[in-house]
Amino acid sequence: MVCDLKDKITIVTGGGRGIGKEISRYFAQAGSKVVICSRNLKNSNETADEIMKSGGEALALQVDVASGTSVKESVQKVLDKYGRLDILVNNAGITRDGLLMRMEESDWDEVMAVNLKGTFHFIKAVLRPMMKQRSGRIVSITSIVGMMGNAGQANYAASKAGIIGLTKSIAKEVASRSITVNAIAPGFIDTDMTSQLSKERQDAMLKMIPLGRFGTPMDVAKLALFLCSDLANYITGEVIRVDGGMAMSV
Ligand code: NDP
Repeated sequence: MVCDLKDKITIVTGGGRGIGKEISRYFAQAGSKVVICSRNLKNSNETADEIMKSGGEALALQVDVASGTSVKESVQKVLDKYGRLDILVNNAGITRDGLLMRMEESDWDEVMAVNLKGTFHFIKAVLRPMMKQRSGRIVSITSIVGMMGNAGQANYAASKAGIIGLTKSIAKEVASRSITVNAIAPGFIDTDMTSQLSKERQDAMLKMIPLGRFGTPMDVAKLALFLCSDLANYITGEVIRVDGGMAMSV
């Protein structure tokens, strides 16, 4: 494989389902040991079992990314087991959609706590070991919605726009230690998250995609692997869209 992650240690948040599950499997195929962190241990275990059945190495942890304590404990477990930490993929995310006029404060807070603060918690927890190692890769999953906005998703769009500012700032803070920090902005990817949308909304989205199809979790996993491999040594502070051309003009 061109993108070789042999013996690297990767944490993937939200690795129990959807895009995170595909990233976990793909990184394991590339030789990485993968730590799958999600709220639901059953989902994390299923991903880890699949990886191990195919000859890879994986560890499943129950983590709530919104809790700083839970995140710190999980990173410590990874360091205790493997003694190092090479790659972090911040993928866990939720939606609580609704027009702002009707949005409850709790919908705002929950989305911010998981999507933005969760990303902050994990980056903060992995930076010290990565800085000591003088190497590391951090990739966070934002969204094209964080660049272009979306009616009914003010909370989600704000959290994803926040991830972009966070990514660029941290990239500047840690570049001198050879740690790269990038973000991936998917468009419409076929997962549990998007399957909740009505047929009408899905049809309207499809019309906006020049490549004429929804994305797959593998479309995102391929870019994540590239950004975490040696092929991307000189790329940092970037936000790269994987959206079939949907937000081309942004
Ligand atoms: P899914 O809803 O399929 O999966 C979300 C994952 O996040 C699950 O594994 C879930 O864990 C985990 N998660 C949610 N909350 C927490 C938490 N508090 N602590 C730990 N883990 C948590 O989503 P997708 O795979 O579609 O999305 C993955 C990422 O990609 C998200 O950040 C999303 O915003 C982003 N994205 C998705 C797009 C799409 O079209 N699907 C488009 C653009 C961006 P559990 O299984 O335990 O519930």
